[in-house]
Amino acid sequence: MIGEVSGFRSAQSLAQETALSIAEQVDLFGDTKVSRPVTMAYQFPALTSEQKKELSEIAQCIVASGKGILAADESVGTMGSRLQRIKVENTEENRRQFREILFTVDDSISQSIGGVILFHETLYQKDSQGRLFRDILKEKGIVVGIKLDQGGAPLAGTNKETTIQGLDGLSQRCAQYKKDGANFGKWRAVLKIDNQCPSHLAIQENANTLARYASICQQNGLVPIVEPEVIADGDHDMEHCQYVTEKVLAAVYKALNDHHVYLEGTLLKPNMVTAGHASTKKYTPEQVAMATVTALYRTVPAAVPGICFLSGGMSEEDATLNLNAINLCPLPKPWKLSFSYGRALQASALAAWSGKAANKKATQEAFMKRALANCQAAKGQYVHTGSSGAASTQSLFTACYTY
Ligand code: 13P
Repeated sequence: MIGEVSGFRSAQSLAQETALSIAEQVDLFGDTKVSRPVTMAYQFPALTSEQKKELSEIAQCIVASGKGILAADESVGTMGSRLQRIKVENTEENRRQFREILFTVDDSISQSIGGVILFHETLYQKDSQGRLFRDILKEKGIVVGIKLDQGGAPLAGTNKETTIQGLDGLSQRCAQYKKDGANFGKWRAVLKIDNQCPSHLAIQENANTLARYASICQQNGLVPIVEPEVIADGDHDMEHCQYVTEKVLAAVYKALNDHHVYLEGTLLKPNMVTAGHASTKKYTPEQVAMATVTALYRTVPAAVPGICFLSGGMSEEDATLNLNAINLCPLPKPWKLSFSYGRALQASALAAWSGKAANKKATQEAFMKRALANCQAAKGQYVHTGSSGAASTQSLFTACYTY
């Protein structure tokens, strides 16, 4: 054709192509229908429109108006240290009993909790009437999630940094969990602030591993919760935490893009930007909020439907006050900003329970109170009344925390 040289399109034909309306080029779930000039990278479709629709609906359901996540996926060892604090033996039956109390709380919990993350053992456990926990949660309209990572492994040649294991056989595990009622997954990667940390290797390795996990989840119909946690160990100030958090998140979103992860069908679970636990500097919730939202605004695409913070050792009350301030922060916030708390949703409840069946009501009340407070904070409507119990203001920090 005149004006077209072997393999290259003419300026005229390119202009005609680009004249197609955006609506003609892109379908409802973002599939580009027209390929760009021949030299450009082309993505072979990773997911069908139906798969994308399902994933984005699950993600949005979990973070719908004021809802957040209960992270009840403590491994056997981590649950053991929780139970040790209240002098309760770490048996399967004791772990089951505590979780039964949480999951059989009044149905109104579903106004605050959109998803619950379970550990493998808990996904198959039942209440005292023989009902599977996962069915109890589903009946309340709560989405069931599953912890998928299998703990850390050292990165040789670094200052005791780690990567996360669990990619081998992950696709098969995801497929089985999906059949067994799970609709989202969690994978926690740990980055620390220290001398030479986080290293370039730790940032890249963990970003890539998170992205590979997210891709595998989506192929199996699970929404991946992407959790790159910059832990609070250390005496660094908040500004340094912000710098590191931005570097980590930028690497994570580059890797997610490289792995063709569908962002609308993901949730991010980051740390809030705070000073290190051993820092002498103190910051207000408004300062934490400004640093946190600034870091997120610079690095997390608006396509991500929700950001559910971990509590990272903050007291229950601090985690709620900081989340509230984040939702009131005057910067642009194109995502839902909510919670995925483990310690900051269960500390008062565990203290109230103390291993005694007779304390069921008090345990459920304590859990409900924190869930409601965080629901209000996720809407920027939390008002601290000053009537919190002692357990809610205690630091929940553990050095080098594992889950
Ligand atoms: P914390 O809220 O206790 O930090 O834990 C949340 C979690 O799920 C960590 O992976």
